[in-house]
Amino acid sequence: MISSHFRPRISRLVLPRLAVALCVGGLYSTAPSASAVDRLSNPLADSPKWKLLEKYQRTITRAAFERLLRGVYAIHGINEDLIRVDRDFACILMDQDAQTWFTLHFAKDDQTARSASRTWRTAQTLPRQKPRKTLAGLKIALDPGHIGGDWARMEERWFKLGDAPPVEEGEMTLRVAKLLATKLRALGARVSLVRDKAEPVTPFRPSDFTTIAREVLRASGTENPREDFNGPDDPLKDQTVRWHSEILFYRGSEIRQRARRVNSLLRPDLVLCLHFNAEAWGDEHNPSFIDRNHLHLLVNGSYLESELAFDDERFEMVRRLLSRTYDEELRIADTAAAAMAKTTGLPPYQYTTDNVARVGTSGYVYARNLVATRLYQCPVVYFEPYVMNNAEVFARVQAGDYEGTRLIDGVERPSIFREYADSVADGLIEYYQSAPH
Ligand SMILES: [Zn+2]
Repeated sequence: MISSHFRPRISRLVLPRLAVALCVGGLYSTAPSASAVDRLSNPLADSPKWKLLEKYQRTITRAAFERLLRGVYAIHGINEDLIRVDRDFACILMDQDAQTWFTLHFAKDDQTARSASRTWRTAQTLPRQKPRKTLAGLKIALDPGHIGGDWARMEERWFKLGDAPPVEEGEMTLRVAKLLATKLRALGARVSLVRDKAEPVTPFRPSDFTTIAREVLRASGTENPREDFNGPDDPLKDQTVRWHSEILFYRGSEIRQRARRVNSLLRPDLVLCLHFNAEAWGDEHNPSFIDRNHLHLLVNGSYLESELAFDDERFEMVRRLLSRTYDEELRIADTAAAAMAKTTGLPPYQYTTDNVARVGTSGYVYARNLVATRLYQCPVVYFEPYVMNNAEVFARVQAGDYEGTRLIDGVERPSIFREYADSVADGLIEYYQSAPH
C-alpha cells in the first residue's frame, strides 16, 4: 500500500505505544535535506518507484524480513526515521520532504506467504541437467568491469611500467569474460556479455555531463570551478568540471545503463561482475608494487546508515531484500570463492574499512553496497581476485593468454586469464551440480 494517510488498525491493548497511526509523516524528525538532488545518492539516479514493491505484499514473514534487514542489509543499524518494523508490517519512508511512508505487510507464516513473480531462477528451479551439461538452461550475464581501451586512463584503471604494455583492467576483464563465456556455453548455459568490446554501454560521453558536474560542484560550495586538472595525481582534481563529468560518465551513467540492459533486455538468472583488484599504485607511469596478493568476492549488503538516508538507495535496498536474491547469491559466491581459493592459493583480502561485512562460510565473501550489485535485479556475484600491482600478477599479465603452463618467476603457471575463468566455471559446476532438484 502506498499512502501518506495510511492508518493501521492496531489494538491499544496489543501495542499501546503504537496506538497513534504509524506510517504517517510528522511523527519523526525529518532528516536534513535541502533539495531533490540531496535526497538521491547520485544526480543520475532514478527516482524510486515504490509502487513496484506492491507485488511483495505478504510475501515475507516478519522473521525473514528482520533476518535480512538486520543481518545483511542494514547491519550497521537503521534509524526508525527511515524504516520501522512492527508486528504485522514495516513502515518504510518513501519521501523525506513529504514524509510519506510505504507500508509493507508481512505474511503470517511461511505456509501462507504469497510468492512474488520474478524473472530469475534458482538452481532448484532450473530444468534437470543432462550429463555434462551442468548449466543447461541457466541464463548468465557476464559483466566485464570497467570500459578499458581508450577509456582506461580516464577510469584510472591503467598503469604502465617502462616499455612493457600497459595494464588495463577493462581489457583484462573482457578477456576473462570471453574465455569464461566459451566454457559456460559448453556446459549448456546461455551466456550474454553486458559489454563485449572496449567501448561504453552508455550512449553518453563526458561532455554530456558538464552542466550536471557544475551543479554538483555548486551544491558542494564551489561556485567557479576549474575546468581541467593536471593528470590523476592532481590533488584538486575533484574540484574540476572535467573530473566530475568523467565520473558521471564512466561510473554513474555507464553502470546505470548496464543495469538497464541487464534488467530489461538480458534478464539473466545470474550476473557475474568480473574485476581484477589493485592497491594504490601512485604514479601511473611509475607504479608502486606491493607484495600482497589476495582474493575476495562481494554480494550486495552492508549499507551504511548514511546511504539508507538517500531515497533511491533505501528503495533499492528494500527491493533487493524483498526479491530474495541474497541466499542464492551467497551460496554461489561461497562455492565459487572456495573453488578460486583452491586453484589460485590466494588468501582472503582483509578490509580495513567499515563499509563491508564478512558473510558466508568461505572466509572470502563480503557484503558491500556497490551500484552494480544493488541495481542488477537478480543474484549478482562480484569477483575481485589478484592484485594487478603485485609483481607476480604483473608478470603473469605481461605473459598474456596461452594454453598449458609457462615458467613465471620460477613456477609453472597457467595463463592468469584462464586460471580466473576456469576457477569461476569450476565453482559454478560445483554449485549447480550439488544443488538439490
Ligand atoms: Zn574493477
